[in-house]
Amino acid sequence: MYILCCASLSGGQGKTTACYFMARKLVNDGFRVLLIDGDPQANLTLYSGIELKPNDPTLLEVLKEVIRPEEAIYEISLFNGEIIPADNGLILAQDYLPSTGIPALVLRNLLTDDTAPAGVDVVIIDSPPQGSHLWSTCICAADGILIPAEAGSKGVNSVETTLTTLDTLKRRRKAFTGEVLGILPFRDKWIGNTQTDRSKKGTTAMKKIAEEEGFSLYNSILESEQYKKAIDAGKTLAEIGHADLETPFNQVAKDIKAKIN
Ligand code: ATP
Ligand code: MG
Repeated sequence: MYILCCASLSGGQGKTTACYFMARKLVNDGFRVLLIDGDPQANLTLYSGIELKPNDPTLLEVLKEVIRPEEAIYEISLFNGEIIPADNGLILAQDYLPSTGIPALVLRNLLTDDTAPAGVDVVIIDSPPQGSHLWSTCICAADGILIPAEAGSKGVNSVETTLTTLDTLKRRRKAFTGEVLGILPFRDKWIGNTQTDRSKKGTTAMKKIAEEEGFSLYNSILESEQYKKAIDAGKTLAEIGHADLETPFNQVAKDIKAKIN
């Protein structure tokens, strides 16, 4: 089982969008994929078409060990994937996690010990936009981190903050044992065949970071309404006639497959 987490320490960087399309890609390729919604905003749960009733099990009860992960898995009828969903009650994990003594390792332990769901090939975790115990538990569960970041100065800042925080969790706290797969530029804007100055500056800075750090800079998620359209329709980009926009997800999937095999 490979555990991927989409993480970027800022709002609106494309984390949830990347989780959704990565899941669709890997399911299409025949993998059993389990999504985990680690963000109390619960957008991934929404994108997956899951409507929770007040007492339905969610990630919160899993983290609290009231139930096993297996018992909080919902089938996604839209695309043959599975999800451990969230609702805004997940914010309470913030108060609970420190009481475990190992807040950063709670989710990793649950996914790798004998309570782990059997038969899953790839777990994809969506993380919240700001550093917190919930963030750390999402990050430290992962084998690989994908950093989506808006192609602009805010996105570059987000990449830098994320890398610094990951480094602290790895070297100083010894809680993060995974690696960074790469940066995925988000909302890269082109007008005709010309990249806007802002996007150019952003992606150039990201390329430099990726080269220095020795990980990938994936093809961009372009500024386009089609991603939102596909999500709203519960479809893939190819299904709405935009297979060309799937390149970044195909690239990340290729890297994940190389790690599994
Ligand atoms: P948060 O930090 O709030 O969880 P996020 O990092 O998960 O945000 P997304 O929710 O994936 O980011 O995307 C941010 C916004 O950008 C959403 O409103 C989404 O609909 C929109 N969006 C998604 N893809 C694109 C795109 N290719 N071009 C323009 N906007 C997009
Ligand atoms: Mg999100």
